[in-house]
Amino acid sequence: MASAKFQIERKCEICGKSFIAKTLTSKYCSKNCSQAAYKQRKKEELLDALKREKAARVPKNQPYLSIADATALFDIGRDSLYRLIRNKQIRYYNLGLRMIRICKADLQERFNLRPYDERRKEKQSEVKTYRLEPEDCYTIGEIAKKFGIHDSTVYLHIRKYSIPTRQIGNYVYAPKSEIDNLYKH
Ligand SMILES: [Zn+2]
Repeated sequence: MASAKFQIERKCEICGKSFIAKTLTSKYCSKNCSQAAYKQRKKEELLDALKREKAARVPKNQPYLSIADATALFDIGRDSLYRLIRNKQIRYYNLGLRMIRICKADLQERFNLRPYDERRKEKQSEVKTYRLEPEDCYTIGEIAKKFGIHDSTVYLHIRKYSIPTRQIGNYVYAPKSEIDNLYKH
């Protein structure tokens, strides 16, 4: 049966080698690569924590910011800030050497930057959402036909890999993106 041959082939996110994934969320080919990924993640978390700490130290309710505070709060580089100043794309005033103060509202409104600590919150609450409009979905029958597997196997995989579905009338729909990802080779 087709389902016996069914395997998810993935590229390891660390070393790039192809491997057979045990679950839909497997990302790494080996224990070594998972450990490397774990270390990398920890390092990123640490950097992130440092940035948040720096951002938290910037005084609130201050309409104009020093260059150092602006880079900490908005995670924007000094070069970019000086470019904005040079090109007069941002309101600022200059109190003397190394005493430039730039307008916080301009950074937020004109350049749509979000303070680092706020962006962090958004990122955390970001839940994976699926578009389940019929045009973004296959019906189970379409999946079976397209990938040459039995309907019941499709249902099995949908349950096993927690793929979201939606029923409209007699048809069950599943997102094309997830299904293509599942059966791609
Ligand atoms: Zn690997």
